[in-house]
Amino acid sequence: MIQKVLIANRGEIAVRIIRACKEMNIETVAIYSTADKDALHVQLATEAVCVGGPRPGQSYLNMSNIIQAACLTGCDAIHPGFGFLSENPRFANMVEECGLIFIGPDYRIIEKLGNKTAAKKTMRDAGVPVIEGSKDALPSVQEAKELAEQITYPVIIKACNGGGGRGMRIVHDPSEFESLFYEAKAEAEVCFGNGDLYLEKYIENPKHIEVQIAGDNFGNVIHLYERDCSFQIRNQKMIEEAPCFVLSDKLREEMCESARVACQAVGYNSVGTIEFLLDKYGKYYFMEMNTRIQVEHPITEMITGVDIVKLQIRIAANQKLGLEQKDIHRNGYALECRINAEDVKKDFAPSCGTINFLNLPAGKDIRIEGAVYTGYKIPPFYDSMICKIIAWAPTRLECIKKMRIALEEFILDGVCTNEEFHYFVLHNKKFIEGSYDTSFAQSFVKELMEDGSI
Ligand code: ADP
Ligand code: ADP
Ligand code: MG
Repeated sequence: MIQKVLIANRGEIAVRIIRACKEMNIETVAIYSTADKDALHVQLATEAVCVGGPRPGQSYLNMSNIIQAACLTGCDAIHPGFGFLSENPRFANMVEECGLIFIGPDYRIIEKLGNKTAAKKTMRDAGVPVIEGSKDALPSVQEAKELAEQITYPVIIKACNGGGGRGMRIVHDPSEFESLFYEAKAEAEVCFGNGDLYLEKYIENPKHIEVQIAGDNFGNVIHLYERDCSFQIRNQKMIEEAPCFVLSDKLREEMCESARVACQAVGYNSVGTIEFLLDKYGKYYFMEMNTRIQVEHPITEMITGVDIVKLQIRIAANQKLGLEQKDIHRNGYALECRINAEDVKKDFAPSCGTINFLNLPAGKDIRIEGAVYTGYKIPPFYDSMICKIIAWAPTRLECIKKMRIALEEFILDGVCTNEEFHYFVLHNKKFIEGSYDTSFAQSFVKELMEDGSI
């Protein structure tokens, strides 16, 4: 069994992993940047090591410093969390080569699935429907444009190594193709250090439905049902729910089983998520795979009772899943609201500063995953998500009500957050009906702006 884990991350996910380790009697080593010396994860871990300066490149992406910290503190494994190095096959390989366990899939599997064009090929070979588009990175803007004509507009240009909704542009008209291509390229270079782009048919008004998977080193793979992550601002999720309210049981079974079989075909040996787009005709297409723990994993935990982080650690420790598909049952509904330190009025721009006062909601079936406290100073160098509110109830409507009450209790003074925006959403008729698609959030923002609510 694993005895000591270095957590190569920060914020709420680092705290989440530390808690799981404590329950498993595993010691923890937090890493932190000079900007994070007062962060909660530093205080909760058994030990903490400063690995560099505030910029991610100096600290949370600094592979050699992180691996050295793990070796010097006697860790036997590294958990990468999400973002940062979590889907970097070179890092996963380096960790293994230094004699440590990488808590995630084998680096060769990350190679096959982490890069988006490679993943589409892998999935196509496994018999999963994929979105029509370029097979490889686009060689030139001219060839890209020709392909766009073939696929027919609208198309979407996306970064091969993208994440967090960055580096993508929708193109409705050939005349805007070139400028949007270069915009996407520049953004991809800045965000991911790699400007490779690919092209896809743009599916209009789809739902984002993703399936949680878990596989072990012995060829066992199960799914933990789906999540509906269609509520997105700028292609970035903000509210997630499980299960999807408007999915028929037949389609649910089909999508979940197709994701499960595909993971079995590639020998997937960790927890992970297959993301699909579901179009308005009920056809679904593979979009990407996240070979890591996801932000919204708690809602699946709430409806299945499975602790996904503990399962991920056990798999990495070469234990069997210990669960079969027939052991996984869904129960009730769960919602997650991502609380971001951002100014909704300023197009959701990040808002930094000191939290002068904080009251977090509580109560039966309310769960908080966070890393902030009264007096905490939010540094400007990282993601704006500061905590997640998760609610569970037997029915979706009860769950929405519960979340409204939780949002009423949430008080944060000192920086702007999107909490009130969430509250508006949870009172919106279309959201309550559950049939909203990925364009809904953005049009709702417009509506609120027009009537002066925000
Ligand atoms: P999820 O599917 O778990 O919601 P997201 O795409 O929202 O995943 O990304 C999870 C977190 O990691 C977000 O905070 C996002 O900003 C960050 N992230 C995702 N991909 C990258 C990347 N390539 N580089 C840096 N941060 C990333
Ligand atoms: P990321 O790695 O940033 O999460 P994804 O490939 O998962 O990127 O796409 C993020 C979101 O962008 C999707 O959930 C969806 O809303 C939108 N999107 C991506 N590709 C398409 C597409 N081909 N058609 C329509 N919407 C898309
Ligand atoms: Mg995605």
